[in-house]
Amino acid sequence: MADAVSAAPGTGNTPAYYRSSVGDLSVVALHEGTVTRERAAGFVRNAAEDKVEAAFSGIGLAPGTLTLTFTPLAVELPGELVLIDTGYGDNGPSTTGRLRENLRAAGYVPQDVGTVLISHFHTDHISGLLTKAGEPAFPRARILVPQAEWDYWMNEDNFANAPDRLKPNFELCRKVFDALSGGTGTFQWGDEVKPGVTALPAAGHTPGQTMFRISDRGESLLFVADVTNNPFVFARHPGWQPGFDIMPEEAVRCRRAVLAEAASQGARLFFFHAPFPGLGVVRPEQDGYAFVPQIWGT
Ligand SMILES: [Zn+2]
Repeated sequence: MADAVSAAPGTGNTPAYYRSSVGDLSVVALHEGTVTRERAAGFVRNAAEDKVEAAFSGIGLAPGTLTLTFTPLAVELPGELVLIDTGYGDNGPSTTGRLRENLRAAGYVPQDVGTVLISHFHTDHISGLLTKAGEPAFPRARILVPQAEWDYWMNEDNFANAPDRLKPNFELCRKVFDALSGGTGTFQWGDEVKPGVTALPAAGHTPGQTMFRISDRGESLLFVADVTNNPFVFARHPGWQPGFDIMPEEAVRCRRAVLAEAASQGARLFFFHAPFPGLGVVRPEQDGYAFVPQIWGT
């Protein structure tokens, strides 16, 4: 007779969170999900398709596919749990929406989150601010967003003049931030948005994209958001312009500048779209940078 336990169908992976430290602060990478989809020809606007295919197959993806991972980051500040970005929550593809479950696995409940910092307003970063029912997913949290990002997406002229492919994202911004009205504030680049957490400009992927430098006791970690998509491809080819970047040339300038500085300083980085848990460094390699993941457990 079959063993009832081993015969039970699997329902997914084990809870996925990864705790490490910055000085005395604990930072926790929280797996939100993974999506594999078709990668349309021309996904990278300015590179030959055979080179793009070779780069993606070189990281083990099936021909013509794109696998994306989504990893928000929690930062335990003294007296307050801060969350950076949210993923989709339960508003996205069925293989996403694991954030709150993994937050619980890491020992918290959504009510523990005191502040949510948002890097930019793309759907995979803000949809999880609301539950499927339209309620705040982190009911006690104040939401802090980049002023420049707010000014772009919430502007009615920009919405009216946006290309069709961006209009759903403009609509999403209105839905999310209307539902959170009163609970949302803005910050400027250069602001210390929370003690030890500084907002830094990273415009290009979106007009107001923001990175966050987390610092404590001489150590730091730079949350680079979507300065690159998967860094195994886009740090290695920083001049490539993926379709996700709204201002492609500015995004390339930003990517090159951030990666060059990080490589020269040996800075520890956190990429929202790197394979989980998203931590690592970059070092120069040929005409780009190699992403070197942090070894699990250190
Ligand atoms: Zn993203």
